Amino acid sequence: MSSVNFFVTITLMMFLDFLFPKYCVNCRKIGDYICANCFSFISFDVEMICLVCNKGSFDGLTHPKCESKYAIDGAFSAVSYKGIVKKLIYNFKYKPFLADLKNTLNELFYESIIQNENFQKVLNHPPAGGPFLVPIPLHKRRLRTRGYNHSQLLAEGLSRKLNLGLLDILERTRDTKSQFGLNLKKRKENIKDAFTLNTKYPSASLRAGIIPNTIFLVDDILTTGSTLLEAARILKRSGVKKVWGLTLARD
Ligand SMILES: [Zn+2]
Ligand SMILES: [Zn+2]
Repeated sequence: MSSVNFFVTITLMMFLDFLFPKYCVNCRKIGDYICANCFSFISFDVEMICLVCNKGSFDGLTHPKCESKYAIDGAFSAVSYKGIVKKLIYNFKYKPFLADLKNTLNELFYESIIQNENFQKVLNHPPAGGPFLVPIPLHKRRLRTRGYNHSQLLAEGLSRKLNLGLLDILERTRDTKSQFGLNLKKRKENIKDAFTLNTKYPSASLRAGIIPNTIFLVDDILTTGSTLLEAARILKRSGVKKVWGLTLARD
């Protein structure tokens, strides 16, 4: 970028900030989407679970006794889904649809997850090659309403910061109702068969090695893990060897 263009861009950004000042989503202080004071209340103390049995797992991995052919291998979350984090994610996903929050959330996601030793182990020594990042897809109808897939924006941020490739190999074929308020059994029923491989990647290309052996599924919130579990099942049935979940928040 030339210095003139740079100057124009900076001036424009300042002008936009002037027109649309950023407010802390928690206390409304002008400056950023989260002020330093509210940031200090974010809980990085995340309780990890085995997604298969929903019981505690100290390292975030699926218990050996819960492992099966198509089961997810584990999941790591960056922050606890409480207070300010709830507000940030809400504003990111629902009206006023602050897609711009992605920068704040990506920073939070990366800075926290990179400190997780178990995630680091998988990242640095992926047992089956790779890894690649795959966002949990939205159904076309929901994508049209929101204008963006929040999980895709999070995955793009992580992809840049972790220097990992991003693949949109999953497609959501059923517009499932929100998992909110459903119990574990109902969540599993609700999400069953909601995903397929993206038709962009026909099954023949799987065999040709387009689809990697190790995948990190990226999503915003981990509650019971039914969504990650189902997405992992589809990927593993398609030949992916290892699948972990990465979520910004853990409910
Ligand atoms: Zn604040
Ligand atoms: Zn288990």
